[in-house]
Amino acid sequence: MVNFLEEPVNGNFNQIITDSRTNFIKDKAIFFAIKGANHDGHEYIVPLYKRGVRCFVVEAAAISEKFLKQWSGLNEAVFYKTDNAIAALQHLVAAHRKAFNYPVVGITGSNGKTIVKEWLGTLLNGKYNVVKSPKSYNSQLGVPLSVWQMSAQHSIGIFEAGISRVGEMEHLQKIIQPSIGIFTNIGTAHAEYFENLEQKIDEKLKLFMQADVLIYCADNSLLVQRVAKFCEKHATVKSLSWGMEAEADIRMKHDITDGKSILTYTADADSYSIVLPFTDAASLQNICHCIVLMRYLALDWNFIQQKIHWLKPVSMRLSLKEGIKNTQIIDDTYNNDLVGLQLALDFMYQHSKKQKKVCMLSDLLQTGEDEAVLYRHVSQLLNQYGIDTIIGVGATISRNLDQFKQQSFGFYSTQELIDNLAKLPLENSSILIKGARKFEFEHVVALLEARLHETRLEIHLDALTHNLNYFKNKLKPPTKIMAMVKAFAYGVGNVEVAQLMQFHGVDYLGVAYTDEGVLLRNEGLHVPIMVLNPTEAEFERLLQYNLEPEIYSLNRLKAFLSFMDGKAEMAKIHIKLDTGMHRLGLVAQDIDELIFLLKQTPNVLVASIFSHLAASENATHDGFTNSQVEKFQGWAKKISQAIGYSPIFHILNSSGIGRFPEYHFGMVRLGVGLYGVGYDEASNSQLKTVAVLKSHISQIKTIPAHETIGYGRWGKVDKHSKIATIAIGYADGYDRGFGRGQAHVLVNGVLCPTIGNICMDMCMVDISKATAQEGDEVIIFGENPSIFTLAAQIDTIPYEILTNVGERVKRVFLKE
Ligand SMILES: *Cc1c(COP(=O)(O)O)cnc(C)c1O
Repeated sequence: MVNFLEEPVNGNFNQIITDSRTNFIKDKAIFFAIKGANHDGHEYIVPLYKRGVRCFVVEAAAISEKFLKQWSGLNEAVFYKTDNAIAALQHLVAAHRKAFNYPVVGITGSNGKTIVKEWLGTLLNGKYNVVKSPKSYNSQLGVPLSVWQMSAQHSIGIFEAGISRVGEMEHLQKIIQPSIGIFTNIGTAHAEYFENLEQKIDEKLKLFMQADVLIYCADNSLLVQRVAKFCEKHATVKSLSWGMEAEADIRMKHDITDGKSILTYTADADSYSIVLPFTDAASLQNICHCIVLMRYLALDWNFIQQKIHWLKPVSMRLSLKEGIKNTQIIDDTYNNDLVGLQLALDFMYQHSKKQKKVCMLSDLLQTGEDEAVLYRHVSQLLNQYGIDTIIGVGATISRNLDQFKQQSFGFYSTQELIDNLAKLPLENSSILIKGARKFEFEHVVALLEARLHETRLEIHLDALTHNLNYFKNKLKPPTKIMAMVKAFAYGVGNVEVAQLMQFHGVDYLGVAYTDEGVLLRNEGLHVPIMVLNPTEAEFERLLQYNLEPEIYSLNRLKAFLSFMDGKAEMAKIHIKLDTGMHRLGLVAQDIDELIFLLKQTPNVLVASIFSHLAASENATHDGFTNSQVEKFQGWAKKISQAIGYSPIFHILNSSGIGRFPEYHFGMVRLGVGLYGVGYDEASNSQLKTVAVLKSHISQIKTIPAHETIGYGRWGKVDKHSKIATIAIGYADGYDRGFGRGQAHVLVNGVLCPTIGNICMDMCMVDISKATAQEGDEVIIFGENPSIFTLAAQIDTIPYEILTNVGERVKRVFLKE
């Protein structure tokens, strides 16, 4: 029997869990079980109970017989039953919010929400104890998780809210209840779930229903009009506008004088000029919002100027790259507060492949907590995540080092750390580098990075997850997934991709050669791994590393069986049938002998029987594909019946998964789809770009008409042209076929053709149409140009564009 309590959820909780994988520390935690498209939170209640959680909010529709049975044994558990767990969470947090009456800033708009929020966090620190949304936590789930952090120690809250449909903002308003509003801007992009832009603005404005003041930019006339209407209806909201062009309460003017970027603020008698560390339009707009808010809070100009001096463009991404001394660097050098630290530790916990873990931390942003209490929290977190060594930088953390149980080193400044870097025990570890802006840890990162060759392949881990889920959604449970990570995971990076796949629960990994499998095992991967093409000499290693060979011929089978003969261990194999691809595989005549041999050897188990399609992507060959599948089913059934148990059947690769839902069988083998290559227009548009190859401009030259560029004098300029030399060549995987104008690269948003032949380490492009400086970034492929475009240009397939990316190109893994 399970007793369910009804809403409202109440009680003294100190941690909300919605993702069962978070590494929680608190005892009074409450878990909200959410049923999503890819994930059912209710599955995790029993394991969470075992880890100490006692209070659960479950959704009525998800309660099945199976769950009731599981939960009836959880004697100490308290269950709340609700129609919608997210709504219940929102109610709980809205009530929590009411307990505090310090100012709360609510931020919405199309762009800049996160940057304005992060900047305000930095700018107000010192005068206020700030609590703010982590990263871009601005959704129906992210907002309550953010607001839940509010406590009596804080003196201002800053939260962002993002919506995509009518009706959503009201929920967020009830949770945030902002007293101060910032409407960053409104994009012109097609509003997917709105009738028009007016409706979208009106929906967003609902966040400010109960605010005292609303800050916005008057340069957009539509926004001015909608805000006026809104304030008519909500008479207590005072609007506070600023403008560079339009009339507004506050006039802003931007000039560049003597190379300095200067902003002048004028409102009635208050006028002041301030020096900015940037000039681009987006940053200008964001900083204007911040300044107006700071003046509204009556902060003085000296303080504002001083704080703005330290601002830098925000990179909200965590990045993972290879370091010197066989290390792995997790770079999160933007800010440093407790929540950010926990997110970074979570990332390290999920992606780190090293046993040893080092954390390099600067002083934390003061949260109003007593210093000793703050560092005790940090210490608990570091213990929780199994950190072995802590390297503290800054006066505060240094004098609190005795709070840490692990090996610790303290430095008063970043320079002192840099002077001693060579002496620190960093070998073979994962190093999380996390520092507040002013510590400028990017200099430390630069010293630890393994490859400084600036050409890099950026891999977007969130896109990879998105693509995995896209294919997962096409499967009916319990169909399994084998993620193909052969060939260095299609050039992207096998260990990191495999790690992510394991984390998301894929059932198998597929590699081409034994060495690839051994490498993954050495990096700590424990999911089953199939090896497509092992040699006989490697059988011992297969067994030793728990790798499962593909068996594709009778000779192979005999060799493996005789190798296993008399051994105490069991081995799993995968039988490959050749149904028409005519690459590797057993054929019809082999089946009887195969069965006979398999029955002889009790310590060899057939884990799966599979085949590979020759043209699963192409409708013209669907007749052939069907005949391959028919053969496969006939043979596989025969084998399975004869051996007396049921191995997994599988035949589909990425394009097959989408095109032949009726042939999913027990497992599918997902390869190139993970990297954003679909099987038709619709799937291509829904999959996300995972890999972006970037380089930079080494030199720019103006070349007079009739000169030639590069080897063989192939690139003739017929008029005065601006030519850039880019630090990538065919040795990096930029195929020589891309030369002589066959392909384009993206320079500051403009596609520029190559000119002349591609060289080994460099190439030249005509940037006459672009605005660029030496050192500027160049995109070789990504969203645009895509790997599809490049493949078409040299008559190959996207697979080859990916796998060609050279080994010396540094891989950087990014997470939003
Ligand atoms: C590479 C490979 C796959 C994956 O193919 P994609 O087209 O990349 O999805 C599946 N099965 C086998 C046997 C493979 O070699």
